Amino acid sequence: MARIYALRRKSTLALRRRKESLLHLLRLPPQAIRASIVERYGTCGKANCACHQGQKHGPYYYLTQCLAPGQMQKFLLKTDAGRQAARAATAAFNEFYEGLEELSQINTELLRRGEDWPARS
Ligand SMILES: [Zn+2]
Repeated sequence: MARIYALRRKSTLALRRRKESLLHLLRLPPQAIRASIVERYGTCGKANCACHQGQKHGPYYYLTQCLAPGQMQKFLLKTDAGRQAARAATAAFNEFYEGLEELSQINTELLRRGEDWPARS
């Protein structure tokens, strides 16, 4: 869920200033990936392996991405480099998305006030 910004008690000037600063700050991150990284442990096919007595193999890290309801894309992040890239990419997406969400809430509040919409920024 989106973070909710307390905007109703802020002045229109303060909202406009924050909007301007967001517009300067927000740069589409080239490496952005909207996904989660999940940690998993598993058992193998060898009948007398310790993994069947609780010492499971892992951790394994997967990148999981929901493309549509019921449509998950998932793959194993095999290397440290891959895991680091995945963490950086999902963090970059989340940071950008939070800024975009804040901009959206500011624009909603400005629209509610009948301020500055839609002709000027
Ligand atoms: Zn095993």
